[in-house]
Amino acid sequence: MSLIVHTIPAFTDNYIWLFHQPGNNRAYVVDPGDASPVIEALNRLELSLGGIIVTHHHPDHVGGIHQLLDNYQVPVYGPKGITQVTHIMKDGDSLNLAETAFDVLAVPGHTLDHLAYFTAGEPLVFCGDTLFAGGCGRLFEGTPEQMWHSLSRLAALPAETLIYCTHEYTQANLEFALAVEPENKVLQQRALQVQQERQQNQSTIPSTLTQELSSNPFLRANQPSIRKAAEEHEGRPANSDEDTFAIIRRWKDHF
Ligand SMILES: [Zn+2]
Repeated sequence: MSLIVHTIPAFTDNYIWLFHQPGNNRAYVVDPGDASPVIEALNRLELSLGGIIVTHHHPDHVGGIHQLLDNYQVPVYGPKGITQVTHIMKDGDSLNLAETAFDVLAVPGHTLDHLAYFTAGEPLVFCGDTLFAGGCGRLFEGTPEQMWHSLSRLAALPAETLIYCTHEYTQANLEFALAVEPENKVLQQRALQVQQERQQNQSTIPSTLTQELSSNPFLRANQPSIRKAAEEHEGRPANSDEDTFAIIRRWKDHF
């Protein structure tokens, strides 16, 4: 299998994902915060819309659904509590779209309703605002413990998994990562590469889980180097991986 995933830039730094099988024009869109760039892409690529997938309730992820439904009568898959969702998804569900089986994972923290959609066949994950390239989402609704648990679930996916997150935050995330872990050689290399890609206005997404495990401080809160940096920043010992995670998440909020 080789699912085709198109990148649709939206707003200032969002990505909307549109995927389909080669030779099949029925496509599915993930987190359409805005309808017009999706409709434009469908027309340009000569694709028809088969359905909509949603990770969480924030307006920049659901804002375009209403207008898409005016143009296409399609099912909307997503968490409970979003009015336009026609098929409520929850942890442990599986979803078959574009000849691809997705596992639904509950990943609360950024919001309480947040879901991720993973397919082992590719492998790839649509993870919304939970895991970012080089970073993670802000904690608007959940606790650091919830977010650390959610990130740990994503960290346990196959290392070659492609990380399709929803924002181009990579460069700023890696600047923070370097403040936490300045001696990390993989991180230094990645930051240089991302800087070059951004200078040429290229997308840095998707990344791979391998990259995140070696250079994303929020997936590395269980590593001695991150714990040490967190303790030095906070001026006290960290009690646990969750505590280390909580400290660096707060640190990033004020970075
Ligand atoms: Zn969000």
